[in-house]
Order: sequence, then C-alpha cells, then structure tokens
Amino acid sequence: MANIGFIGVGNMGGPMARNLLKAGHSVKAFDLMPEPVQKVVDAGGTKAATAADAARDVDAVITMLPAGKHVASVYTGDKGILSVAKPGTVFIDSSTIDVKTARETIAAAESKGMLMLDAPVSGGIAGAENAALTFMVGGSDAAFAKAKPILEAMGKKIVHAGGAGNGQAAKVCNNMVLGITMIGISEAFVMAEKLGLSAQAMFDIVGSSSGSCWALLNHCPVPGPVPTSAANRDYKPGFAAELMLKDLKLSQEAARTTGVHTSLGAEATTMYAEFVDTGRGALDYSAIIGLIRKGH
Ligand code: NAD
Repeated sequence: MANIGFIGVGNMGGPMARNLLKAGHSVKAFDLMPEPVQKVVDAGGTKAATAADAARDVDAVITMLPAGKHVASVYTGDKGILSVAKPGTVFIDSSTIDVKTARETIAAAESKGMLMLDAPVSGGIAGAENAALTFMVGGSDAAFAKAKPILEAMGKKIVHAGGAGNGQAAKVCNNMVLGITMIGISEAFVMAEKLGLSAQAMFDIVGSSSGSCWALLNHCPVPGPVPTSAANRDYKPGFAAELMLKDLKLSQEAARTTGVHTSLGAEATTMYAEFVDTGRGALDYSAIIGLIRKGH
C-alpha cells in the first residue's frame, strides 16, 4: 500500500481520495478550501498544511485541479511540489488541462528525477464516487507501472495512451466528439419534433440505425426515452455545460497548435459559449437542445 499526497479534493478529487483510503492506501490531502479536506480526514486521511507538505515523503502525488494554470503553479511555481518531493516519487495529474502544459510539466518532473503521468479521467462525479473512472494515461512505461495499482483503486479502465501528454490528447479528442454529437442529435430531435415525429419514435429508430451514438443512447437530450438522462430531471448534471465548454476550448487550442481545421469542433465551441453566456452553464451539457429550439 502506498503513501499518497492528494492535492485538489473537490467534486472529483474528494471521492477519488476516499476510494484510495477504502483500498488501504494512506492519503495526505491538501486543498485551498478547508471543507473538502475535512471530508477526506473524516474518511481516515490526514490534512496537509500546504501543497508542498502533501508532496513531502510520499510514494505518489495525485493532483485534481481546475485548469492548466493551477497545475503549472502547483508543480513548478514558487514552492512548487517538484522541488520538495523525494526523487522517484510518481506524480499523477488527473486534471483536464491543455496538452502543452501537461508535456512541459512532465518534462520538468523528469528533469528532477521524478516520474510523472498525465491521467485525465472520464466518468464524471458518479464514476469518481464508484471507483469506476476511465483513466487515459500519458507518460513513460516506468511511471505507468508504478502508478497503475494506485489508479486501479479509483477506476475500472486504465489505458496507457503513449508518451507524455497523450492522455490529455485522448481526452480532448473524445470530448470534442461528444460535444459535436450532442449538438447533432439535438438538432435532429428538434427537427423531428417540427416534422411531427414523437421523441420516442425518433429514439427507437435512430437508436438502432446508422445515426445512433453514445450521446443519444446514454444522454438523450429530451425527456422520456432514456430514463437516466439529465433531460428527465430538468437538466441537473451529469456533465455541466461549462465543463463541456472548457474541454471544447482545449480542443480548439490543440487544433491551433497542430494546424488541424476542426470546423465542427469550432462551431460546437461557439454554441456552448453562447449557451453558457445565457447563464445556463451549470445545467447538463444536453440542455444545449434549448438553444437549438429557440433558434440560438
Ligand atoms: P472542483 O472545482 O470541484 O475541484 C477542484 C479543487 O481544486 C477545488 O476544491 C479547489 O479548491 C482546488 N484547488 C484549486 N486550486 C488549488 C491549488 N492551487 N491548490 C490546491 N487546491 C486547489 O472541480 P472538479 O469537478 O473536481 O474538477 C477537477 C478537474 O477534473 C478539472 O480539471 C475538470 O475539468 C476535471 N473533470 C471533471 C469532471 C466532472 O464531472 N466534474 C469530469 C471529468 C474531469
């Protein structure tokens, strides 16, 4: 069992840290907010006074932070955790961040004799609570081998996607597809409504035809056909539209740096930005159908 420092124990990091404790690891938690740390302490963890404190004398450090700028400052900023950890510590950043920051941070870690992976997740808060996350992992074989038993305490599927940054690359490509397909099926449902087709008939036919996709079968944007979809609970998330917008913006950053013309990704980003601007960012991302119904 490993001694683990955990930095950023919010909606995702909190339940992930508690699953590590359940699996028998010891966890030292740090967050800027006291309440989420207390929940980890109540579950059997200990409190670290600073991020550096969480990274000192441990086997592994996991970070689950909002964005790339937080990750860069925690790792390589003033009193960054890379400067206090013992050589050989494995760092696992599970935040969803840009590929460039992920690669730069891993290079900085390796130059100090540390092991580091980018390991963003899919599965949302429910996946974090049920230790059922999918981890998309980038980094060296040595770092992956050391981290895998730790990741297994928090997830069901652990995929080594290649070298540094490849986990973030997989995440950003996947979520660009998800944003685009949710808009595509929402447009189709609104058009079907106007053409006089019921939502159930539309679902039954498209769901078993060539237009079927994961977003339709799991997150159907209209109430009825998929009882567990957010549409049946006034679009309470699920996966919030503002997080979809964050991921789509990351996809467009990757499109710019690679010179790939992602016109559908760009349009999806514009539509989610418009939706979030109307104050509905905390709704599930499938609520984008409301924007389409109103003609934007
Ligand atoms: P959150 O805001 O609930 O948690 C982030 C935590 O980080 C907060 O508690 C915050 O206080 C803490 N924090 C911020 N800066 C810090 C610092 N410098 N030092 C220590 N703590 C700091 O967010 P979340 O929903 O847990 O998401 C975390 C990451 O996971 C994000 O990158 C998000 O995109 C990604 N993600 C979220 C979901 C989801 O459904 N919520 C799904 C997949 C991936």
